Amino acid sequence: MTYLSPELAEYETNPDSAIAKSLGVSLRAYLLWKEEEFSVRCSALTAKNKRCKNIVTGGRNVTPNIWEKMTGQYCETHENGNKA
Ligand SMILES: [Zn+2]
Repeated sequence: MTYLSPELAEYETNPDSAIAKSLGVSLRAYLLWKEEEFSVRCSALTAKNKRCKNIVTGGRNVTPNIWEKMTGQYCETHENGNKA
């Protein structure tokens, strides 16, 4: 029988949660970070009510920590209140 530390045991059952915890970010942020391909997407809606897919200034290929801090920001277009 092998002994698993609580962290390792968690990694076995829920790797995403364990990784998020070790990075110091929320699980939600970690999952969204992966989903959005490690970049911070603009939070605005386009004129067609679709989520803007532009990447916010300086938000390309960031770490989950930076992603979590930057999320909610707007791209260059929407930063100025424009509707794309
Ligand atoms: Zn935008």
